[in-house]
Amino acid sequence: MPGLGDDVLVADSTMAGYEGMNGVFLLPTGRAALVESGTGLSAERTRRALEAHGIGPYDLAWIVVTHVHLDHAGGAGELARRFPSATVVVHPRGARHLADPERLTASARAVHGDLMDTVYGPMAPVEPQRIRAVEDGEEIDLGDRRLCVVHTPGHAPHHLVVQDDSTGVLFAGDAAGVRVDGMTSARPACPPPHFDRDATVAGMRRMAELKPARLLLTHFGDPGDPAAFLDDAEQRLRRWCSVAERLAAGDEAELEAELLRRFAADESMPADDPERFAVMGGFASNAVGLRQWARSRTGSEEVGTDALR
Ligand SMILES: [Zn+2]
Repeated sequence: MPGLGDDVLVADSTMAGYEGMNGVFLLPTGRAALVESGTGLSAERTRRALEAHGIGPYDLAWIVVTHVHLDHAGGAGELARRFPSATVVVHPRGARHLADPERLTASARAVHGDLMDTVYGPMAPVEPQRIRAVEDGEEIDLGDRRLCVVHTPGHAPHHLVVQDDSTGVLFAGDAAGVRVDGMTSARPACPPPHFDRDATVAGMRRMAELKPARLLLTHFGDPGDPAAFLDDAEQRLRRWCSVAERLAAGDEAELEAELLRRFAADESMPADDPERFAVMGGFASNAVGLRQWARSRTGSEEVGTDALR
């Protein structure tokens, strides 16, 4: 398991068979914690990575999920089963989905289709008594350090980030966008059904105010200078949203094509592997989320699925 410095290691969930796409972070000292749980398909791989690092079944105290999308929380139930001492930490609006994932997975299937089987896998429930819903400002005690919880809705209403108070490292989930290996800039992460621009921008500014020593993105790793990254991410998000507002009356395919035409080049996506990027945070799902957001602002919102609420 590669170390990232600052007492953080990353277990790559190798989502969809690719490395460098979806991280599960381990804080191994004191009362050990995971930040993120990967997918239902990656839980056993994560267990083996922890075991190889000396973290046995009863050595994990916390599994923190930044939000309940399936690439972040899909593995929580399977990991909770493998680590019986661990408490699963989640935003209050995500807690019921961990205990009873049925609506969430049905909704995700509507969004992701066949990728549910090949990329995400099933989501096992977490026993309710092992779930801790945390409010903004709460702290998670790791013994030798604490993780400070900050609610950052926008990407989804159930999104939070956590900051290690001993190192200043901020685990950003999807709140600052996506920048996987091979991309030179952040891609906004605007999934349906509850993406909200203004809340996302507020979350980015809140993260900047925390003056993180480093950001760690779930997709994927350290993007460099946090202040510069967050500022750039906000500007890019605003540009994507203004395209969506201009094309709100059109269909999703038109918006997707325009996003690709205007923005694909400046991310420097490797042309040799477009599939890798289509699997997660692709232009198509962003177009759906952005269009729903733009139409909700003009009062022409279509009734979307709300199970990711
Ligand atoms: Zn997400």
